[in-house]
Amino acid sequence: MTSLLIPDFDLGPHNTLAVPARSRFGAVVTDKGVLEQLVAEAEERGLPLRMLGGGSNVVLSSQFEGVTALMGIKGISVLDGTAEAALVEAGAGETWHDLVAQTVRQGLGGLENLAAIPGTVGAAPVQNIGAYGVELADRFEQLEAYDHEKRMFRVFSREDCRFAYRDSVFKAHPGRFTVVSVRLRLPRPWVPVLNYAGLSTLGAEREVSAERVFETVVAVRASKLPDWRTLPNAGSFFHNPVVPVAVADALIARHPGAPRYPAAEGFAKLSAGWLIERAGLKGHRQGPVGVSEQHALVLVNPGHGTQEDVAALARHIQAKVEAEFGVRLTPEPIFM
Ligand SMILES: Cc1cc2nc3c(=O)[nH]c(=O)nc-3n(C[C@H](O)[C@H](O)[C@H](O)COP(=O)(O)OP(=O)(O)OC[C@H]3O[C@@H](n4cnc5c(N)ncnc54)[C@H](O)[C@@H]3O)c2cc1C
Repeated sequence: MTSLLIPDFDLGPHNTLAVPARSRFGAVVTDKGVLEQLVAEAEERGLPLRMLGGGSNVVLSSQFEGVTALMGIKGISVLDGTAEAALVEAGAGETWHDLVAQTVRQGLGGLENLAAIPGTVGAAPVQNIGAYGVELADRFEQLEAYDHEKRMFRVFSREDCRFAYRDSVFKAHPGRFTVVSVRLRLPRPWVPVLNYAGLSTLGAEREVSAERVFETVVAVRASKLPDWRTLPNAGSFFHNPVVPVAVADALIARHPGAPRYPAAEGFAKLSAGWLIERAGLKGHRQGPVGVSEQHALVLVNPGHGTQEDVAALARHIQAKVEAEFGVRLTPEPIFM
């Protein structure tokens, strides 16, 4: 059988933070059979295998001594749904935003709040992507993934995925599962979700459509976030910290006006972006990397700095925010 491996693979064009990175081998997974063949080939050579989608939520090391597989399984189909919901299935290598756009175009509302999130369909469940009051878990039916430990394909229900805020069973077990397809459930009738800043004005419109919400989300995001194609970044770099209510109360007593969002009983969610900005770090530069001047939660890499440069900046931000507010920030992208 011909080898699937491409030697000395350049990952620079495959990560939105534009960190210079290479892998001893690269490969493209185009179907389930190719994935199994790749697993066997990597094992035969004694090499670790890791998956990459659009590279929009990773901080890559300069050199990976193994196989980096790009997820390229394509295909979008609308399945027979029910009166209560339409079911849509997509290959893990489809671009997430294209899936959202296609469903909206076909008159299937439900994903529009998640428009313009970079990356692939297969990575969407990994961190349970979310934006504008909706997260993947809200529209999820099931997925199929290869279990590298059990050496078989498995179907995961919503419960199996253990979705939480930017978290899932896949994130908790890095490298164990490769998602190959995702099935989504789009409820009928469509009910818009507009209770989030930036979309609330749409509520006043007499007949708001999924298409209108989609266009608004795309426009609001473009006005708020730097475009990774011109200013390399990985989106929000830190999770919004969830702290005990007493900690949030004390912080807000000292800093009236600090944003606070609901969280689980006894906890409150703070705005990581606000904390970074108030620590005086918006626009801060540290060598080739820096904090966006547009949005304090976004770290940018105009000078094509390395993983170490990004990690050093992240540590500086964590230390400054902790010293100022007593709150520890945790990074969202995966260092790998
Ligand atoms: C400008 C910008 C804005 C963003 N906005 C948002 C936002 O609003 N909300 C949000 O939630 N996120 C946001 N993100 C983060 C990112 O877009 C999402 O996390 C996205 O789902 C990552 O997809 P990806 O294909 O690029 O994954 P990658 O970065 O390639 O991979 C991320 C992780 O998933 C794993 N992985 C990739 N594919 C698979 C697979 N098929 N099976 C198993 N594991 C896999 C990788 O090994 C890695 O650990 C933003 C990023 C950017 C750059």
